[in-house]
Amino acid sequence: MVKATALVVPELNAPFEMRTVELDELRPNEVLVDLKATSICHTDLAVQAGKIPMPFPVVLGHEGAGVVRAVGSNVKDCEAGDHVILSYNFCGECRFCKEKKTYQCEKSAACNFGGSRQDGSQTILSDSTPFSTCFFGQSSFCNPAVVQETSIVKIDEKLPLPVVCALGCGFQTGAGAIYNVVKPIERKVQYLAIFGIGGVGCASVMAAHHLATTNPSTPFEIIAIDINPERLQLAKTLGATHVIDSMKEDLKSTVMTITAGRGLDAAVDCSGNMHVINGMLDLLGVGSLAVTVGSPPAGTKASVDVFDLLIGCKTYCGCHQGWAYAKEFIPSLAELYAKGQFPLESLQKTYPVQDINTACKDMLKGDVLKPVLLWE
Ligand SMILES: [Zn+2]
Ligand SMILES: [Zn+2]
Repeated sequence: MVKATALVVPELNAPFEMRTVELDELRPNEVLVDLKATSICHTDLAVQAGKIPMPFPVVLGHEGAGVVRAVGSNVKDCEAGDHVILSYNFCGECRFCKEKKTYQCEKSAACNFGGSRQDGSQTILSDSTPFSTCFFGQSSFCNPAVVQETSIVKIDEKLPLPVVCALGCGFQTGAGAIYNVVKPIERKVQYLAIFGIGGVGCASVMAAHHLATTNPSTPFEIIAIDINPERLQLAKTLGATHVIDSMKEDLKSTVMTITAGRGLDAAVDCSGNMHVINGMLDLLGVGSLAVTVGSPPAGTKASVDVFDLLIGCKTYCGCHQGWAYAKEFIPSLAELYAKGQFPLESLQKTYPVQDINTACKDMLKGDVLKPVLLWE
């Protein structure tokens, strides 16, 4: 029986507790990973706070990086000793998974938030109330972690694991929204706005800046919008050409001035705030595309002027995990990082694993964009 260290949320709104646990035997499609680092994403905190329902106690964590210790008998994507990043889970069998559109897997909710393996069993054992496990196919707040092969992304072993671990969810989402959905060069976007400059929004700014600098013959403006002046300053250093503090400036008139009255060609909302989303939808120009990346609580409705949408041929679409096939997209982002074109470290702060509750507080206060827990 393999022993592990788990950071458990014992009940709704309770802080994380460090416990020694035992892991279930590896199934044929599972991988045992010795984690070096696990980063924290807002979705972990949303479950802790009951905004996404899962039974407690729960072992969360869905951004990790480490080295493979052992593989199940059917595993083909990696072997012992490989360096890996953990990403979201998918069924691998539905019509979308078969086309590598794993981000829109029909069983996405069950695979990522189901709280167990597909057969209902748990990867982490308990002799009292069972833990909810298999969060995003990994529950990377447990080391070593039992990970579904679908969640495994193999990477170059020269990459620093504590830096690239955060590519698994938030950064993939923000960058993918630009590379895979907005596609500013192909769509001939001139005015792109990014609403909400947290970790995800920063990844969108970095991706947009990368495309702008590598395609100098098709320049476009990158407009970052937030209510936090420090984050807007950071957005400038990452490549935003304009920043708008929507607490201090009138958003609509400022955007109309920047775009010479035509409105935005593309917009990405990373805030998940309904007021911000409705504001974004109001600023779209003819033939534009607006993308929702951040989510308000399930059941919330946005407001759209349908005639305006119709006559302007505007599109408003949802985007989960940056429409990215993680097994190929994450290595490409990691390569950009290695070339200095995706400066992840500037957004991160490291903590020893036992300081997880401090790390979460710092993130919620807005002092840290991406806390990274180090396992040793
Ligand atoms: Zn599927
Ligand atoms: Zn996440």
